[in-house]
Amino acid sequence: MTQTLSTKVLIIGAGTGGYVAGIRCGQLGLDTALVDGGDGLGGTCLNVGCIPSKAIIHAASKFETVAKAAAGGTLGITASTPAIDLAQTTAWKDGIVRKLNAGVAALLKKAKVKVVKGWATFSDAKTCTVKTADGDLIITAEHVILATGSEPVELPFLPFGGDVISSTEALSLDKVPGKLVVVGGGYIGLELGIAFRKLGAEVAIVEMADRLLPLYDKALTDPVAKWLEKHGVELHLGARAGSFEKGQLNVTTKDGKAIKLKADKVLVTVGRKPRTRGWGLENMGVAMAGPFVKIDDRCATSMKNVWAVGDLTGEPMLAHKGSAQGEVVAEIIAGRERAQAASGRAASASAQEPRFDPVTIAAVCFTEPEIISAGLGPEDVEGRDDVITAVFPLAAIGRALAIEAGEDGGFVRVLASKTDHRLLGVQAVGQHVSEMSNSFAQMLEMGAVLEDVAGVIHVHPTLGEAFHEASLRALGHAIHI
Ligand code: FAD
Repeated sequence: MTQTLSTKVLIIGAGTGGYVAGIRCGQLGLDTALVDGGDGLGGTCLNVGCIPSKAIIHAASKFETVAKAAAGGTLGITASTPAIDLAQTTAWKDGIVRKLNAGVAALLKKAKVKVVKGWATFSDAKTCTVKTADGDLIITAEHVILATGSEPVELPFLPFGGDVISSTEALSLDKVPGKLVVVGGGYIGLELGIAFRKLGAEVAIVEMADRLLPLYDKALTDPVAKWLEKHGVELHLGARAGSFEKGQLNVTTKDGKAIKLKADKVLVTVGRKPRTRGWGLENMGVAMAGPFVKIDDRCATSMKNVWAVGDLTGEPMLAHKGSAQGEVVAEIIAGRERAQAASGRAASASAQEPRFDPVTIAAVCFTEPEIISAGLGPEDVEGRDDVITAVFPLAAIGRALAIEAGEDGGFVRVLASKTDHRLLGVQAVGQHVSEMSNSFAQMLEMGAVLEDVAGVIHVHPTLGEAFHEASLRALGHAIHI
């Protein structure tokens, strides 16, 4: 029998955008229902994205450390040749995912959010039908937050299935492939390709652009390219992948030659697209911005009281962007409810409402070495003579040398305004640098000037000293160079 539910706020999708919006709505006292049709709460990031990939990357790095010791490393540690049971590694990773699924469920429960498991289809902007295990549930709401996320792009001539896999299957393999070809040299392909190389796979990367990680500037990606070269990863840049037949991937190289690459698995990571089809978005009267749902700086769509957050709304498709948007939307809805309760009239946008207007959304590539980019980079300020740029190498940082992170060409770079020294951007490349990303974002978000970074007594010995030194260098008085 069809059931019905009426709620103040309805959220579709329990990824990092949707579930954070749900928790915050609940904390603010809004009657909230959250619908998700996936396998576990937490969406792509928690189940098949950020967390599982970082778990596999971590396991691969541990394996590589032991393998290096076995091959006669420089630390005086000896070990015998390691072996890996990837099925066991995958089971360990699945355990982490399950723990986090349960954690999200508990947080939603604590916030009194009703979680409905099933796929939702909208018949109009405020009504959807959810196919649940107990039959259809029709939900109507005053506010709808769309957080349906994204899915991997499939190449028509290289459809997913069998040995042609997406990142989802790559994170659940039970055996390290002997030969892995990665199609697409963006961050997901490189993070996974590097992890499988560390685990012993022979890896080749086929990328249509002339260089890897085209969204990052060359100075940042050069150390990654060097790592790939040193570790025998075969690079085909400016090349086009074709079909996969009888264990061989057809590739047209940059100079037009047709070659075949042997592969046990072909991992296709050519991008992700917003999930806009198959759930009645077309019935909601919501305007689009290209393939994405169009939103303004309050995450409002063109339809009244329909909001959208996360990957569905555009680049950067990053977990922390969606979560931040989800919090803003919850605050706006709660603020309007309070205003309505006080005045007795429906409240609409006001100048005091929160906005999603970040100075920066820092991005990290968990490659080898890692890359961070926050704010403006050299390509954004090309031709401007009002910008100071300063670089400080990790090779001059004691901590980097002590943890073997000083030898791969890593650095921290700052960009600041010449006139008032305001920080415009910070980037870094190097082993373990990812943990610095939040201090870069904090400084940018708070409108820091170079003197602010220079004035912070940075802990010794840490990699963060490179940020301090880069800022000092921009001011003309670095200490350790
Ligand atoms: P999603 O996480 O995609 O969640 C959407 C949810 O909505 C899903 O659970 C889906 O089941 C549900 N849903 C969709 N339609 C319906 C419907 N009609 N009815 C019911 N439920 C529905 N980002 C980072 O910031 N850092 C990283 O290190 C990082 N690593 C990544 C690694 C990989 C391999 C991948 C694939 C992604 C990675 N990302 C990373 C990106 C990150 O996962 C996404 O940006 C993030 O998950 C987007 O969150 P979201 O809430 O927009 O959507």
